[in-house]
Amino acid sequence: MSTSSLPAAAQSPPDDVRDVQTTGCCIVGAGPAGAILALLLARRGISVTLLEMHRDFDREFRGDTIHPSTLEILDQIGLAAPLHLMPHSKVSGPVINFPDGPFRPFDLTRLKTRFPYILLVPQSLFLEFITREAAKYSSFRLILRANVRKLVEEDGCVRGVRYLGPDDNWHELRAPLTVGADGRFSQIRQLAGIEPVKTAPPMDVLWFQLPKLPHDMEIPSGLLGGIGPGRILIVLDRADYWQAGLVFPKGLYQELRAQGIAAIRRTITEIEPRLAKNVESLTDWQQLSLLSVESSLCPRWYKPGLLLVGDAAHVMSPVGGVGINYAIQDAVVAANLLTNPLKEGRVTESQLAQVQRQREWPIRVIQRMQSIMQNNLLARALASQGPLRVPWQMRLFVRIPILRDVPSRLIAFGPRRVRLLNP
Ligand SMILES: Cc1cc2nc3c(=O)[nH]c(=O)nc-3n(C[C@H](O)[C@H](O)[C@H](O)COP(=O)(O)OP(=O)(O)OC[C@H]3O[C@@H](n4cnc5c(N)ncnc54)[C@H](O)[C@@H]3O)c2cc1C
Repeated sequence: MSTSSLPAAAQSPPDDVRDVQTTGCCIVGAGPAGAILALLLARRGISVTLLEMHRDFDREFRGDTIHPSTLEILDQIGLAAPLHLMPHSKVSGPVINFPDGPFRPFDLTRLKTRFPYILLVPQSLFLEFITREAAKYSSFRLILRANVRKLVEEDGCVRGVRYLGPDDNWHELRAPLTVGADGRFSQIRQLAGIEPVKTAPPMDVLWFQLPKLPHDMEIPSGLLGGIGPGRILIVLDRADYWQAGLVFPKGLYQELRAQGIAAIRRTITEIEPRLAKNVESLTDWQQLSLLSVESSLCPRWYKPGLLLVGDAAHVMSPVGGVGINYAIQDAVVAANLLTNPLKEGRVTESQLAQVQRQREWPIRVIQRMQSIMQNNLLARALASQGPLRVPWQMRLFVRIPILRDVPSRLIAFGPRRVRLLNP
């Protein structure tokens, strides 16, 4: 029986549990942040248990971008080469077509890195790959269908969690440190009483899949899309299908619904005529999901015995597609700073505060940049009903050698390059 099919009373954690186990570090959520942190700790010999509520990694709402920063970190532990053996495509600098000519907002090929591109790998495959690697260490344990519903707290300190396990019984897992890596709707954050400060970017996204057709062989793999009147289309190549996002001004969803699915098909074809045949598969609103775009930052990422990382601590706007990269950078910094305390079985609040200190300012910088992009460029694009031209200042910016690589560096690495210490 699945958790959601249980009666409400049976879902609230009971006072008695089937068993109580202990681990060196309890990580809740096997997204990019949780999976990488678990791998890094396990390979350093720390006993780590990763709890994931789903039965697998195959979910619709996922990004697929592995940025140069993550590739460099994986390279440090010998995993970049095997990752490249998985089905993938590469994006170095997307070209967007405007009426006044093509425009390349960033170009990673000029960066000094072994990996001057974003690797697109379906996130389900990426997470399977990372957890498979982690499973090579006897100190690693992954429990799928483990739905965490309660923090175990004693004397003001988090000592672990209670979760509904795959056997439909309640279990307690105790650890010197619990990490909430459970994403944008974080249950752990809520249970800890930490309230994120939210901002609402001026857009929402319709998220849907399009089939791949034989003639798509002529379409370059990687990233497609463009800008039309009041809409932005982003299409990711997911090996056996196209994953598409249609960005539109916030608050317009009901209007779009009233216009009907045929209007959506027309919009897509206008922006990307090469997908004209593919969009014929869109016949029902049930095929589209509304993604409410948000951006947020927790004022505090920790309390005694508990740390939040990734989207649980800060939801990133989709601008620049940096959410996965930043979640992974949190995990790397946490592993750098907490390995020794975890080996000693005791993590202090000031050590947890240090993780937040190292990560908070890069997140603030990039969220500020995203907000400038959203409020100027994207809002302008979404408000425009006619052909949109690239502002001359932007065309000039990407020609000035000293400035032109700033956006590329921020997208590839963020404001601060994160490396794994003592890999
Ligand atoms: C539609 C969409 C498209 C995106 N596209 C991109 C993109 O192209 N590039 C990019 O960089 N970012 C993208 N993002 C953002 C990116 O997916 C996130 O920033 C990133 O996944 C955050 O990683 P995380 O590990 O912090 O959390 P998540 O990836 O959200 O992982 C959290 C995990 O915790 C599990 N969990 C939740 N609650 C519990 C619980 N109570 N018990 C146990 N497990 C639990 C969840 O099942 C999930 O597996 C996109 C996001 C969305 C929604």
